[in-house]
Amino acid sequence: MAIDSDGTRPRVRGWDALGFACAIALQAVSAGAQPEEPAASPPVRTFEIAGYTIPAGERRQIQLQVSESFAGSSVDLDVVVANGAEEGPTLCLIAGIHGDELNGTEIVRSVLDQTDPAVLRGVLIGAPIVNLHGFRSRTRYLPDRRDLNRHFPGTSRGSSASRIAARLFDDVVRRCDYMVDFHTGSFHRVNLTQIRGDLEQKSVLELARFLGVGVVLHNPGRPGTLRRSATDAGVPTVLYESGEPLRLDPVQILHGVEHVQRLLSALEMIGPLPDAPEPAVYRSSSWVRVDHGGIFVPRVHLGESVEQDQVLATIFDPIGGERALLLAPRVGRIIGMAVPQVVIPGFAAFHLSWAGPGASAPIEDGAPPDDVDDTE
Ligand SMILES: [Zn+2]
Repeated sequence: MAIDSDGTRPRVRGWDALGFACAIALQAVSAGAQPEEPAASPPVRTFEIAGYTIPAGERRQIQLQVSESFAGSSVDLDVVVANGAEEGPTLCLIAGIHGDELNGTEIVRSVLDQTDPAVLRGVLIGAPIVNLHGFRSRTRYLPDRRDLNRHFPGTSRGSSASRIAARLFDDVVRRCDYMVDFHTGSFHRVNLTQIRGDLEQKSVLELARFLGVGVVLHNPGRPGTLRRSATDAGVPTVLYESGEPLRLDPVQILHGVEHVQRLLSALEMIGPLPDAPEPAVYRSSSWVRVDHGGIFVPRVHLGESVEQDQVLATIFDPIGGERALLLAPRVGRIIGMAVPQVVIPGFAAFHLSWAGPGASAPIEDGAPPDDVDDTE
């Protein structure tokens, strides 16, 4: 539970200063839960990570040198470690692997800021901005155009992406018992808040349920993604998707903080919170592509359930009238979609999910087209 040093109220900084109502709402939500009493005896256990020693009941911000700039200066990954006063699991929150995906960065920062190690069981580790190069240039990629989330677990003598991946994986990921990797849609697409992971693995499915997100999609991720590499290495990991790139969405950030608090509660790292409702689980998904160039105007909303042959969008000729309608190929739910924009034939416009069975090509063949796979 997010408790102030006096143990009586949640701490919320940053967003209330900006005047967002979400911070007020967060206080109202958090106030309903009862914190655990701090440990009665002096803490004695410590947590070792990347050469640092974190005393029990304390929070530290540590730096891992992951790269260097073109000017030769050090590029350091900031990691916040809250070592709880009592024993418990180690939960890692990773964000900013894609430098233009901001919601997760703010969710991780908020959670760590609100976590009081004196009333925490276990260890909470947060890395809000993994791809510092991309974050500084407001882009998804690294300077050499590589996608960091294709290079895990990485090697220390590989490409720039592989070296950054290896440092994060060896020094942080291998210390985690559970991990959540935060992302958003990309390239002018927005994602419904959802969890993705290898639901065939019981520990991953349990992690997904603990978060209390209403939508869960079976998608292990292609080789090289953090969630797949970490899960393969014995660290159950899920992807948390919410929103669109280059935008801080205060409502989605508030929900993200609440979801992590539910997870902390379910792992008994903080006091009890009400059980989350069971999510809708989708085993399959596929992208619906447009067949005509022009101006793309959606006719459905994110999260909407659609019928077969329902009109999803209209494509207009930029200097004429209506060119075509884009129809739903099957019954499903819209879990991701493009924002209104100009498109050409083949553009992936709507991410449609359904309960399954019969996984779609992007899940089965493991080698989906980049424009589809890069939307997470
Ligand atoms: Zn991403």
